[in-house]
Amino acid sequence: MTAAVLMMVAALSAFAPESTTVPRPARRTIVVDAGHGGRDNGMHGPIGGGPTIYEKNITLAVAKKLAADLESRGMTVVMTRKTDTLITLGDQGKIANEARGDLFISVHVNAANTGWKDPGGARGYETYFLAEAKTEDERRVARMENASARFDTRSNGDRDNPLSFLLNDMMQNEHLRESSDLAQTIQGQLKKIHPGPSRGVKQAGFIVLVTSFMPSVLVEIGFGTNPAEAAWISSPDGQYQIATAIADGAMEYLAHFDRRSSASSSANVAAGRATPSTPSTPR
Ligand SMILES: [Zn+2]
Repeated sequence: MTAAVLMMVAALSAFAPESTTVPRPARRTIVVDAGHGGRDNGMHGPIGGGPTIYEKNITLAVAKKLAADLESRGMTVVMTRKTDTLITLGDQGKIANEARGDLFISVHVNAANTGWKDPGGARGYETYFLAEAKTEDERRVARMENASARFDTRSNGDRDNPLSFLLNDMMQNEHLRESSDLAQTIQGQLKKIHPGPSRGVKQAGFIVLVTSFMPSVLVEIGFGTNPAEAAWISSPDGQYQIATAIADGAMEYLAHFDRRSSASSSANVAAGRATPSTPSTPR
């Protein structure tokens, strides 16, 4: 470059708008999983009448809107299903790993336990990351979502092999903090639009999350057992708002991640160390 060009570059960067210095998430592959499907309807509701809803239809509608939104923001999206079909639990992770996904987001609808005092009254949304369930309520949701395993007609498979389960567990541990951060940003964005209460970020052992080796979360977008919430999560407008909030949460997480890694890589460069790995490194 000539001296004149160098001066021009220097002048241009001095006047560059503030926004160009804010790191924007690079193109990533996000795996979007619509819970249940085919002969696995998931939950149905609501309690006490109103049009019957099936979880598998709502998760697919929200997942499609989420995928379209993320693609419009420059992300590569892989959906575990695009039709009313059954993906066996554990295969979602396989699909996600083969797609070399950077993030995995599974969409579900919650159901109140009929033994609760006012099951139809339960409302709200919660985001899970994979870790040991600590409360009875977390164990309830894990049991409910893992019950889909009964649709797995294959004989034993890797799931019955304790060693492979342990190995999966070890691989997942390094994504624990990232998964927890992703759950926080999604839950925070849902809080801005959801008419129901935030039930918080929670943790439990979901088969669907165990098998995907990337930051992974499961979002319970609302209670299909509550008549008002069932109507909202079934409406195109409600689904659009939910999908946009989840996409906002994913992008917010990626921006955090990029800021953290560029900060630590410049610190490492200064200290003469190798740069850190991205969340999608272990394969
Ligand atoms: Zn579900």
